[in-house]
Amino acid sequence: MADSVTCTLHPNRPAAGVCGSCGLPVCSACVGTSRDGMLRCHACGFGQATSGVRDREPDPLSKIPKALIIAFSILVFAALLWMLL
Ligand SMILES: [Zn+2]
Ligand SMILES: [Zn+2]
Repeated sequence: MADSVTCTLHPNRPAAGVCGSCGLPVCSACVGTSRDGMLRCHACGFGQATSGVRDREPDPLSKIPKALIIAFSILVFAALLWMLL
């Protein structure tokens, strides 16, 4: 069977199912069942809450802790006050 469906991540493994979110074939090691009983691959995050799809867009600002941004803002504000005085 040359056209047998194999796992997206493991070409040497037969697909155990198709991800209900992205539709890619995945093997038994790559697939899991979400809370609503649908098959999900690792990339789609099985086991996570299914209400609302999370977009994993790379945001460089999100990596900076908010406390650091607040501290920096206070520092800039203090510097402005220092210059005004
Ligand atoms: Zn998927
Ligand atoms: Zn796999």
